[in-house]
Amino acid sequence: MKLLQAIKQFAVNDPGRIAFLNSGTTLTYGELWDRSDQLAAYFLKQTRRPQSPILVYGHMGPEMIVSFLGSVKSGHPYIPVDVSIPVVRINKIIESAKPEFFIATEEMEDDGFLKYPIEILQSTALEEILLGSVQQPPAEAWVKGDENFYIIYTSGSTGNPKGVQISMNNLQSFVDWILKDFSINGQQNFLNQAPFSFDLSVMDLYPALCSGGTLFSITKDMIANPKTLFAELEASDVNVWTSTPSFAQMCLMEPNFKLELLPNLETFLFCGEILPVKLAKQLMDRFPRARIFNLYGPTEATVAVTKLEVTKEVLDSHSVLPIGYCKDDTELLVINENGKPAVDGEKGELVIIGPSVSKGYLGEPLLTEKSFSINNGQRSYRTGDAGYRKDGVFYYSGRLDFQVKVHGYRMEMEEIEYNITISPYVKTCVVEPVYCDGKIDFLNAYVVPNNHSFEKEYQLTSAIRKELSQQLPAYMIPRKFTYLDRLPMTANGKVNRKKLAAGVLI
Ligand code: AMP
Repeated sequence: MKLLQAIKQFAVNDPGRIAFLNSGTTLTYGELWDRSDQLAAYFLKQTRRPQSPILVYGHMGPEMIVSFLGSVKSGHPYIPVDVSIPVVRINKIIESAKPEFFIATEEMEDDGFLKYPIEILQSTALEEILLGSVQQPPAEAWVKGDENFYIIYTSGSTGNPKGVQISMNNLQSFVDWILKDFSINGQQNFLNQAPFSFDLSVMDLYPALCSGGTLFSITKDMIANPKTLFAELEASDVNVWTSTPSFAQMCLMEPNFKLELLPNLETFLFCGEILPVKLAKQLMDRFPRARIFNLYGPTEATVAVTKLEVTKEVLDSHSVLPIGYCKDDTELLVINENGKPAVDGEKGELVIIGPSVSKGYLGEPLLTEKSFSINNGQRSYRTGDAGYRKDGVFYYSGRLDFQVKVHGYRMEMEEIEYNITISPYVKTCVVEPVYCDGKIDFLNAYVVPNNHSFEKEYQLTSAIRKELSQQLPAYMIPRKFTYLDRLPMTANGKVNRKKLAAGVLI
């Protein structure tokens, strides 16, 4: 409620202020508020199931944000789905979430393949609604308290994506923290690098809108064309940079990526994967006036729960950067192998307890029960991340399972393996990450193929890739395919992943 009221205040007091900007497209606070009201009024009339989700499909356009607010102002959570997600996966999301509406802010190439009956609002119909005569739905209709605000689908080990439910309270706790602890003092320009279907985007979207800031989105077309990207970046004049470390690493390859390009850059917020010391040092050299923060957290606890300011002293005294300190309203525990709180310096699983912890995975009570619990009215989430605490500071030390991050994208090896194995060309397969400088560089799929008629391995690979691209977004498809007659086994009959990772193939 507070969050929507904050946005409303800017829309009422300064309607011409720019809320969103990319490639020449702008959206003012006034337009954002009125158009999302229009959409909310439409949904209040048209929806039949209270709090049913609304799927919002598209890329980084202004209609996405209008649709998000339109959904929550009518009491419905939204599910952001980026254009990079293939139709088969969208169908899985629809099957899981049973949304009442599908807003297509971008053309869908093959919407005919949507397997489930769902009302689709294409861009022309959407435009008619948005530009109709102004209606104002009552604030009582807005999503509130523990009701879902958004549902973000992440990779799941069962072969299907799982929907993390984030409530109004969860999001409010996160936004309050960002506004308070990171010198967000209004009217700043925020970089939005992550597509809206990744929760990293929440780190810029709502802090920007709740502080009267302007969101500057980087589209996939800009990323594909570095010349345009840097011209747009220069024009953006961003003050708050939010991205994965991998994206900043990519930008650093361009020598002009420095203070002169973004003279007013004040803050770097990094989250989602390890922030390497070397990268932080390079950024400090190129942007001597900017503050750099390493944030840590999973989608299940609303973006991030810890932060560390990376100062020169921190860089000089660490070879691996800590993830820092937990936000005030939250507790981070390290639980050792015996299920007891770990002592200082002892490794264990990181467990998050606090108001930004999700109620769980939509429609998945068993999966939810495995990782979430409630103690004394507080929700807790077992992250599956290994870590420890030393002298009051938290450190991250990898995963306890098969979840990985490749260039900032979260994925479960098991989901990729499942989707490769269902290909008729494949008997069995395992996927292993390949590291470079302690960071995952790419994924290697070790495949035992079925009999096939391809003359060359690359032909087989391209046939498998083609099938995979129908199931998984491009970033989840392994870069390398290695073919084997059989997979190496351990003495107790499991696939010997260690051997594969070490390059021993039989
Ligand atoms: P996601 O749900 O996509 O945000 O991914 C969450 C996972 O990313 C966490 O459980 C960690 O494994 C990893 N992660 C997030 N932030 C950091 C960080 N600052 N350093 C290392 N790993 C991180």
